[in-house]
Amino acid sequence: MARFPVTGEISADADALLARLGIADDRLTGTREAVTPLTGEVIARVADMDAPAVQDAIGRAHSAFLEWRMVPAPRRGELIRLFGEELRAAKADLAALVTLEAGKITSEGLGEVQEMIDICDFATGLSRQLHGLTIATERPDHRMMETWHPMGVVGVISAFNFPVAVWAWNAALALVCGNSVVWKPSEKTPLTALAVDAIFARAAVRFGGVPEGLSTLVLGGRAAGEALVDDPRVPVISATGSSAMGRHVGPRVAQRFGRAILELGGNNAAIVCPSADLDLTLRAVAFAAMGTAGQRCTTLRRLMVHDSVYDALLPRLKSAYASVSVGDPRAEGTLVGPLIDAGAFEAMQVALEAARAVGGVVTGGERLGAEFALDGYYVRPALVEMPAQTDTVAAETFAPILYVLRYSDLADAIRLNNEVPQGLASAIFTTDLREAERFLSAAGSDCGIANVNIGPSGAEIGGAFGGEKETGGGREAGSDSWKAYMRRATNTINYGSSLPLAQGVTFDV
Ligand code: NAD
Repeated sequence: MARFPVTGEISADADALLARLGIADDRLTGTREAVTPLTGEVIARVADMDAPAVQDAIGRAHSAFLEWRMVPAPRRGELIRLFGEELRAAKADLAALVTLEAGKITSEGLGEVQEMIDICDFATGLSRQLHGLTIATERPDHRMMETWHPMGVVGVISAFNFPVAVWAWNAALALVCGNSVVWKPSEKTPLTALAVDAIFARAAVRFGGVPEGLSTLVLGGRAAGEALVDDPRVPVISATGSSAMGRHVGPRVAQRFGRAILELGGNNAAIVCPSADLDLTLRAVAFAAMGTAGQRCTTLRRLMVHDSVYDALLPRLKSAYASVSVGDPRAEGTLVGPLIDAGAFEAMQVALEAARAVGGVVTGGERLGAEFALDGYYVRPALVEMPAQTDTVAAETFAPILYVLRYSDLADAIRLNNEVPQGLASAIFTTDLREAERFLSAAGSDCGIANVNIGPSGAEIGGAFGGEKETGGGREAGSDSWKAYMRRATNTINYGSSLPLAQGVTFDV
C-alpha cells in the first residue's frame, strides 16, 4: 500500500514548528539549505561555522567546564531533570520536526524524543551514583580508593538518522559527569539540533543560569567536525556515523592521545532456527528490516533462515514487504517514510544491481510516488534471496535491503553472523534453550548487542549501546557507559606515621 501524494504546506508547517520551538530568527539565516526528505524542498536556511568559529566555541566550552566541574553532581543532575521536563513539554513539536527533517514516521519521531527523555531520567539518577571503589591495600594504616572526575569538553558528532537522541545520550551523561559539550550535528539535520539547543536553553534559565558555553552547537559539515576532532582542548570525541567517518576520526583523535567513543556502521543479522515462533519472528523481522526505511544503525540487513522453515517463512515475509505502507511519514498508518536523499536511493540501486549480478533474486526496491513527491525518495523495501554472503551483503547499505540466506547448521549461521566487518547488533529466533545460549556465549555472536526472540533494532537506554570491529567499539547510554566521560584517579592515603613502601621495597634515608 502506498500513501501518496505527500501534500500540505511543508514549509509553512516547518516555520510554525520552528517558531513554537523557540528558535531565534537570527539562527535561520545563512547559505546551508535545510531540506526535507518528504519532498526535497528547502524548508529553511542556516549558517555553517568555519574553523575559527568552532575554536571559539570550544574556548567558551572549556571556560564553562572549569566552573561546571565544581558544581556538585546531584545539582548538575537537576539541570538534566529540568531539561527532561522541557523535552516533555516540547515532545510533540520536536518529534514533528524530526519527521520533517529526517523523514521518520510519527511514532518513531515521538519515540526518538522519548529516548531523550528516558536518558535524562537515567542521568538524573546517575548524578547521585558516580561512585568509585575502595580497594584493599597491602600497606598498614593506609586506605586506597578511586575517584572519578570529569574530563573537560566533550565533542559530539552525530548522524542524520538519530538527529537528536544520539546527542542526548552523550550530553545528558557528559553534563552530569561535570563536562561541557560541543555538538556538531549532521549537516542534513540542522533544524532539529537548533530546536534542542533552544529547549536546553529554557532548562538552563529555569536552573538559574549555567556557565556560558556549557552546551554549544556548531553547525557545519565535515570541516566543522574536523575542527572539533583536532582540537587538543577536547579530550573526548564521541562520533556517530559511518565506518568511513570513524576511519578518519579515530586515528586523528588517537594521534593527539584523545579519547574517542566511536558508534559506527552496522550490518546486523538474525538467525531463524527450526523451533522459532514464526508469527513472532515475522513481526520482529518486518519492523527491524523495514522500520525507519532501513536507516537505523541497528536495522536488520541479513537474515539466515534454517532450511526447515525457509519455505514457511519466506512467502509470508514477501507478502509483508509487498503490503507495507510506504509514503508520507506524517500520515496515519504509514510504516515506511522516505530515504534521506537521492544519494541514499542511488546507493540502494547500486547494491541491488550488485546483488543481482551474483545471483541474488530481488523483490521490491523500486521507487514509489515519484510523480507526487517531487524530490522525495520513497522505495518499496527490498528482499533479496542470496546464494551466498557476498561482498555486497557484507557491506552496510543504508537503505531497506534485507538479504536472505539459507543455512542447515547453526554453527554455519553463527559464522555468517560474525563474518562481516561490522559488529553492532544481532538476534536469534528460537525456542531451543541450547541454541539461544550458544548464540549468547563466547563462541556465539561477536556483536555488542545479541538478542533472543526480538529483532536487533530498537535498543533501550538502560543497556550499554555500541558494537565491535568496524562499528568502532564505543559504548553509550546505560550500564557503566558514563565512565567514558570521566577520568579515574587512584588515591592512596596514609593515616599512620610510618612509610611502608609497596612490594616490600626499603629506602631509608
Ligand atoms: P556520516 O558518516 O556521513 O556523517 C556522520 C557525521 O560525521 C556527520 O555529522 C558528518 O558531518 C560528520 N563527519 C563526516 N566526516 C567527518 C570527518 N572526517 N571528521 C569529522 N566529522 C565528520 O553518517 P550519516 O550518513 O549521517 O549516518 C549514517 C551512518 O551512521 C550509518 O553508517 C549508520 O550505521 C551510522 N550510525 C551509527 C550509529 C551507532 O550508534 N553505531 C547510530 C546512528 C548511525
